[in-house]
Amino acid sequence: MKDEKSLFTRIIEGEIPSFKIFENEYVYSFLDINPASYGHTLVVPKEPASSLHELSQESAAELGKALVRISKSILEVTGVTSYNIVQNNGSEAGQTVFHVHFHIIPRYSDSNHELTWPTGSLDNKDASELAHRISMSIM
Ligand code: 5GP
Repeated sequence: MKDEKSLFTRIIEGEIPSFKIFENEYVYSFLDINPASYGHTLVVPKEPASSLHELSQESAAELGKALVRISKSILEVTGVTSYNIVQNNGSEAGQTVFHVHFHIIPRYSDSNHELTWPTGSLDNKDASELAHRISMSIM
């Protein structure tokens, strides 16, 4: 039978080694194996959802709390004051490990990782309709 566990579940369970930073009942955090900068950290829910929108409310809330705590510690230890939080969902968005995770990426004065995109402009009528539609579908 095929092993359905994600790579990150295997890390959480200790089957694959990691440099652990934090763990509680809901969250596991460890250093990224291919860091974009010194201190690049992954924060992962133990719940094995593939994309963020599939997470339970409880897990999402705990993940949010852990992100703030871990970010503070990374700032303290690395001495940076700037950092990026990146979270990819789906292969077209650049996700390569299909278990929800947040990247915390410290930004140094000589950091050159890119997180920019060409910008568009918002049409007032379209925006009003779109905001209304999304707003009405939030559960
Ligand atoms: P994604 O592209 O899905 O947003 O990010 C996946 C991240 O997981 C990448 O930054 C990659 O370096 C990291 N990663 C992949 N495999 C491993 C691993 O075995 N150990 C650790 N610590 N990080 C990994």
